Amino acid sequence: MRIKGAGGCQDIRLYETDFQTAWQLIFDCMGQCGIEVQQVDNEHHVAHGRKKSMYYDITLRDMEDGTVQIYFDQHKKYIEVYSFRNDTNTMDQFFKFYETRLEEMHGGIKCPYCGSPVQANNKYCPECGKQLNFNKDVIDNSDEAPGFFEAIFKRHDS
Ligand SMILES: [Zn+2]
Repeated sequence: MRIKGAGGCQDIRLYETDFQTAWQLIFDCMGQCGIEVQQVDNEHHVAHGRKKSMYYDITLRDMEDGTVQIYFDQHKKYIEVYSFRNDTNTMDQFFKFYETRLEEMHGGIKCPYCGSPVQANNKYCPECGKQLNFNKDVIDNSDEAPGFFEAIFKRHDS
């Protein structure tokens, strides 16, 4: 499921692999995307990173059934009510690297809705039929007319 708007974006995905492999792979993929690792919480398994004006919190959760969940949160330093450029490129790139590497390592990708095994290039879940490229689930606030708030809030780009 993907959520866009408020100056950032989030995505939650489910994978079938062991926890340590999944954790290590996060750092490999951050490096490949040019996200500089700034802080690591080894207790709660959160990797904090930064790329230019964007901040990233990537959380790994052990679902204790052989799957792990990645919660990817991209945001700016300050909360923005409206953002005019909603850049999901880095997030898309991260998951592309992640899923490619995972499949090479024979780890599995799971449908986030029903938990069925899916392939990285599947557009729909073969089991529950839900769309997997997340376009249908986008909660997109970026098209809302910014006029009123634009006058009140300034953008924080640094
Ligand atoms: Zn499904």
